[in-house]
Amino acid sequence: MKNIKDYDLIELKQEFIEMGEKPFRAEQVFKWLYEAKVASFDDMTNLSLELREKLKQNYGMHNFNILRKQESSDGTIKYLFDVLDGNAIESVLMSYHHGYSLCISTQIGCKMGCKFCASTGIKFIRDLTSGEIVEQILAVERDNNIRISNVVFMGIGEPLDNYDNVVNAIRIINNQKGINIGARHISISTSGLVPKIYQLAEENIQCTLSISLHATTDEKRSEMMPVNNRYNIAELLQACRDYIEKTNRRISFEYALAKDNNDNLEDAKRLVKLLKGLICHVNLIPINKIENGDYVKSSNENIMKFRDYLNDHGIVATIRRELGSDIDAACGQLRRKNL
Ligand code: SAH
Repeated sequence: MKNIKDYDLIELKQEFIEMGEKPFRAEQVFKWLYEAKVASFDDMTNLSLELREKLKQNYGMHNFNILRKQESSDGTIKYLFDVLDGNAIESVLMSYHHGYSLCISTQIGCKMGCKFCASTGIKFIRDLTSGEIVEQILAVERDNNIRISNVVFMGIGEPLDNYDNVVNAIRIINNQKGINIGARHISISTSGLVPKIYQLAEENIQCTLSISLHATTDEKRSEMMPVNNRYNIAELLQACRDYIEKTNRRISFEYALAKDNNDNLEDAKRLVKLLKGLICHVNLIPINKIENGDYVKSSNENIMKFRDYLNDHGIVATIRRELGSDIDAACGQLRRKNL
């Protein structure tokens, strides 16, 4: 059955017109779904019983079941959701002084093959639909009776490898009549699908783009991230320059520091050279341990030295807080599950 949450407002109005209904009804449904966050058509009390029946016959609500909820000692909560087809994905709720941030998944599995990440390595199943992407937010908001203020597309999957559904989900999340989270509070992270970065720059969405860079030479980056064999560092940074120029937005570069791998001063020096002149911010991530992974976290001393070198040479760098690592909820630790 069609998922009512797969449509942004313009498309939903079109659906209603095709059903012989007035388009403003679609707006009412949109508000029930994303403002009131009801879990059933029966709760949409300003619609006639007849229309509610018609909707039930044509569309599903696809509310996720919570299979498991784990809470970290730092308050981070990891959800395992049943996506209703025998598969399960994870989302992570983090609490900051400025509000709640939710890390969401975009695919069931991942094709990118990054050597340090647990989301890859097991079989890729399929893309999530837009409705399944936004449902992660709704399910967590319903469960905690809270409002999420930041959404990061940093869970399982490569968002730009599921481009259309991700962009459509962002439109629903960002729509003032929808979930209404400002674009500046939405971040997409990519391993570097260059053509899609050019495409995203044209969408007129003001969300933050994060680039998983992680290395400063093509040799090292290709070893860590096979995608670099398709689009090398120079091509990636050219796409970033274009993105900044078109959107006027600062890019965020993620750099996961692994001991004796990419964390020495030579790397920091090369990084400064690479990013020179780019309006950006560097997010240093102490690499998280994954099962069967070869990489070991850099020492705190090295991490701070790396940060200080960047900051002293004109590149704003911060160290990402490690949240949820005791429940495998930190960066790179999420993975799809079979039921
Ligand atoms: N596929 C997208 C979205 C994942 S975002 C991407 O690659 O950007 C998750 C972030 O965590 C990415 O920057 C990813 O490279 C990083 N990451 C993956 N494994 C990690 C690990 N073991 N430790 C720290 N960061 C990791």
